[in-house]
Amino acid sequence: AGSEAGAYLQSVYESVVRRNPQEPEFHQAVQEFLESMEPVLVRHPEYRKHAILERLVEPDRLVSFRVPWVDDQGRVQVNRGFRVQFNSTLGPYKGGIRFHPTVNAGIIKFLGFEQTFKNALTGQPIGGGKGGSDFDPKGKSDLEIMRFTQSFMTELQKYLGPDVDVPAGDIGVGAREIGYMFGQYKRIRGGNEPGVLTGKGVQYGGSLGRTEATGYGCIYFVQELLASRGLELDGRRTVVSGSGNVSIYAMQKAQELGALVVACSDSAGYIVDPRGIDLELVKRIKLSEGGRISEYVRERPHASYHAGSGGIWSVPCEIALPCATQNELDAAAARQLASAGVIAVAEGANMPCTLEAVHLLLAAGVLFGPAKAANAGGVAVSALEMAQNSMRLSWSFEEVDRRLHAIIRDIYRNSVDAAEAYGFQGNLVAGANIAGFRKVADAMILQGVV
Ligand code: GLU
Repeated sequence: AGSEAGAYLQSVYESVVRRNPQEPEFHQAVQEFLESMEPVLVRHPEYRKHAILERLVEPDRLVSFRVPWVDDQGRVQVNRGFRVQFNSTLGPYKGGIRFHPTVNAGIIKFLGFEQTFKNALTGQPIGGGKGGSDFDPKGKSDLEIMRFTQSFMTELQKYLGPDVDVPAGDIGVGAREIGYMFGQYKRIRGGNEPGVLTGKGVQYGGSLGRTEATGYGCIYFVQELLASRGLELDGRRTVVSGSGNVSIYAMQKAQELGALVVACSDSAGYIVDPRGIDLELVKRIKLSEGGRISEYVRERPHASYHAGSGGIWSVPCEIALPCATQNELDAAAARQLASAGVIAVAEGANMPCTLEAVHLLLAAGVLFGPAKAANAGGVAVSALEMAQNSMRLSWSFEEVDRRLHAIIRDIYRNSVDAAEAYGFQGNLVAGANIAGFRKVADAMILQGVV
């Protein structure tokens, strides 16, 4: 039955490649997921009978649209916008918006696919979606960002609603962009629907703790990983790639728990500070317009700057947290980390490790927190933001943080249990895939062929 299921999985994968040509990131996300499915299909023939996998790899819909805007020189510019509404079995489509020049249909599909299972894992009533544009916010003025974002929302709003599709931020989209999107949505649609976007400012319906949630969640997950071997974060040398929202709050929580964070990065290079990264300085640099991480060494001459962000994985550490972007940690980096004695790797970004890197780390016995679990804290608190908006109240930071922590513990437990139940002991990539999948798949069967 196993090899028969294997052949079936291979055919599902091949049809994804055939129908989505030149979308390597989407193929990769599907492949990683299908590698976990064989024992699940053998034990539950109903999934195959209901064509659950064939339906899951095909999004409900993908919209693509023109985003025209006028730059500060008065020139008309055109970008392309996307929204993939991947799966709404468990609730409204939910997932961030990414503004980055690398955005294309394949990137948005890989992110939306992953989001569906990540969101299911949180135990919150949210489906999976993702959106974005190939717009490059780098070097743009505040007014250009506003004009672009308003134009983007003018088209996107047709597909949104608090019970339909609820975007949030991702790379290149933070509180400022969410604010502009919310303002434009309200202007066009009228009324007040705070639950249509998450990651809002706390001044107008945002949740306390949402900014910190992805980074904190990643560290809470690392705590669980370490605890499984009776270890703690205190005193551990830690490397965190990136210097955006996820990275900054992962570093903050790690430091709070006593870790020594020695390196972080941006797209141009990385810094090493053997005394421990000065987070206030990183925040000040990154919050100033066009700030580059290289500026860090000007104020901290004992630290060093190295061009080329990928080199960050050559910095020896016990905890490695890729929190920048997809495929930033490859096989060579995984080998380097393993031979330097890394204990745990947790994915704060979406799919930051290549498939080969994941295989190598698991084979080396490294504790591995896959993105669907380790970065689910952000979207989990987004769901808490939606809940607060529906109830017209707001919880304290402590209340949100307590719920976040409990959700991450549940995700860890469910992933460990699923891995064990299906013969993947210690492999939380498979555990998270299976636990997320089963929630969506069982609910799909109950809702009929749609
Ligand atoms: N972009 C984040 C993610 O990858 C958050 C999505 C959300 O809050 O909806 O999960």
